[in-house]
Amino acid sequence: MLNYLLLASAALSFAAPASAATQAIIVGNLIPDAATGPTGPAVILVEDGRIKDIAKGINNPFQADSVVDLSTMTLVPGLIDLHVHLTGDPGDDYRDEAVNPDEWGVVMGVKNAGLTVKAGFTTVREAGSAQNTAFVLRRGTAEGRIIGPRIIAAGPALSIVGGHGDVSGFRNDVIATLETGYTCTGPIECAEKVRKSSRAGADVIKITATGGVLSQQGRGLEAHFTSDEMLAITNTAHSLGLKVMAHAHGARGIEAASAAGIDSIEHGTFADEAALKVMKAKGTALVPTLMALEGVRARLGKGIYTPTVEVKAKQAVEAAGRQVRRAKAMGVTIAFGTDAGVFEHGSNGGEFALLVNAGMTPTEALASATTIAAKTLGLENEIGRIAVGYSADLVAVNENPLNNIRTLEKAEWVMVRGRIVP
Ligand SMILES: [Zn+2]
Repeated sequence: MLNYLLLASAALSFAAPASAATQAIIVGNLIPDAATGPTGPAVILVEDGRIKDIAKGINNPFQADSVVDLSTMTLVPGLIDLHVHLTGDPGDDYRDEAVNPDEWGVVMGVKNAGLTVKAGFTTVREAGSAQNTAFVLRRGTAEGRIIGPRIIAAGPALSIVGGHGDVSGFRNDVIATLETGYTCTGPIECAEKVRKSSRAGADVIKITATGGVLSQQGRGLEAHFTSDEMLAITNTAHSLGLKVMAHAHGARGIEAASAAGIDSIEHGTFADEAALKVMKAKGTALVPTLMALEGVRARLGKGIYTPTVEVKAKQAVEAAGRQVRRAKAMGVTIAFGTDAGVFEHGSNGGEFALLVNAGMTPTEALASATTIAAKTLGLENEIGRIAVGYSADLVAVNENPLNNIRTLEKAEWVMVRGRIVP
């Protein structure tokens, strides 16, 4: 009973609107920006969900309504994951799609939003869900009614008929029932689907530019949309102020997507020099999602995947990490994303060590999940740094992550939009 009351009161205080009450947060070591690095002890003043002031040193100069003592810890900006699927868990059977109502995705999403923010990820980009599940989760966390990160949501992905984002592996009459309504053929229909997505409330347009590993479609991992279709999608989205993120594995699909003006390539597994050259020239960001392939690796050869999926999964796992090394060498922007949902939600921080193993420095890895991810979202004046005026999205960890990147795998204390995560 006592536990229940404690939990209930914690949830209530999270639900309270970001208040005018001020909070002073005393930290042992502040990393305001990945590029700046550690600046030593500091006190952060938070009011109305925003950072109001920052003082150097351990002595608190502020008359705050409450004080949080994190003087043994390092404070970093709230982490950003540009690729998650909150409404599902790994190992879910694809046939569940024909059994579970969409509302089940919200139940899973509430659980997973909590796990994600407790892991230090205060902003996520939801990279594909049913029509409304991610949108209601977005509202739930924004209003503080559920515990979770800021959510930038795509809703259902645009796909070619029979492509990675379409329903496949069922009888035709079942497919007709399960269709999301976001497949398209030809530039006109694809432009229409972008507008439909925008009308429904999407913050970003997600497309599946090539085949995908975990869908039941057996058409490989190369280009799916034509260049004309992708051009129509990006022009339409950009005119509506929306960015486009493209799931893409095969090199020619990556190259065509980037050339068409897509803003970020998700996975980018088989990116070769020609594809990366176009990405560099067009300023396309790479979101490598290395954790996804770790999740797939752990499930290979165990009879978990259908034969269609097993073939594609083997190819992708063999290439894992190479795209990061090549992209870094060629100066392509690398932004942090994991594909959580393909592996356990809340383990998102495991991506940092994988990025460092693939050749990034700890500073570059932290920047990819803060300043660079914020810029990829177009939110560089709101999140990704600890600075006056920014959203109070803060994460405390035990060590300086630039000395030990794996400290980012366990957040000790998290604040999102000025609310302390219980
Ligand atoms: Zn994904």
